[in-house]
Amino acid sequence: MDNRYIDAHMHVMPSGKFIDNPSNPPIPDAPEDVIAAMNAHDIEIGVIVPMRTQDNEFILQCQKRYPQRFVGCAMVHPYDENAVFQFQKLVRRGLCGLKLHPITQQFSDKNFKKLSPLIKEAGKLGVHVQIHCTPIMGYSTLEGVLRLAYEHPETNIILLHAALHRYLDLFPLSRAIHSGYLCNLYVDMSGTITAFHNSPIWKSFRWVMRQIGPEHLVFGSDFPAADISKTIEGIHALGFSSEEEKLIMRQNMVKILEEVYE
Ligand SMILES: [Zn+2]
Repeated sequence: MDNRYIDAHMHVMPSGKFIDNPSNPPIPDAPEDVIAAMNAHDIEIGVIVPMRTQDNEFILQCQKRYPQRFVGCAMVHPYDENAVFQFQKLVRRGLCGLKLHPITQQFSDKNFKKLSPLIKEAGKLGVHVQIHCTPIMGYSTLEGVLRLAYEHPETNIILLHAALHRYLDLFPLSRAIHSGYLCNLYVDMSGTITAFHNSPIWKSFRWVMRQIGPEHLVFGSDFPAADISKTIEGIHALGFSSEEEKLIMRQNMVKILEEVYE
């Protein structure tokens, strides 16, 4: 059995220069740079999530060029009249998920009327949805993501960044899951685990992640925005058994990307 990791959350950019802030130095993120970083960390597959809707074509090209290494997600704007149609087309052309970013795309994740048709369609198409969740500036809310997952149990949803400083509010998730709700919800800890590991709140963060449990956590690095080694180090420090860690580092994503692994 293949034990290499699947990174649920990586970026490649057409520029080859990941720049989230013009004053930051560029970080190499051409496809070959990302593959080199994957090779250095025993990562078999990187799920590539777009930062901008105009990058869908580039992500499709990357996936075609490196089909053994990249699985690509689509990005559409939920307020676009043809959003569902555009998404269907991108999935038919080979993309394997949907990425939504309420902050950069400037929409509220509580606009259920606009978001629900897309989330529902993902479930019908058998692909997953990744939703950025750092609750700041009103667009991105934890409540929005939780309700979307609750209302669309047929769609696997990955909540990105473990809701950052709101991680404590993920605690009820463990109870919901044990009661048979939100079983379709997974938590990616990228960026947050690296910020909190070795910080004064680590013990509390670790405890909440352990309560959610290994069946609902996924390894995502957000490379090149965050460091892969530090992310893996943080996941080891959660103290799960090696069998449980396999779920986080690979097996949960095999399940989520079932159509790719069939
Ligand atoms: Zn990201």
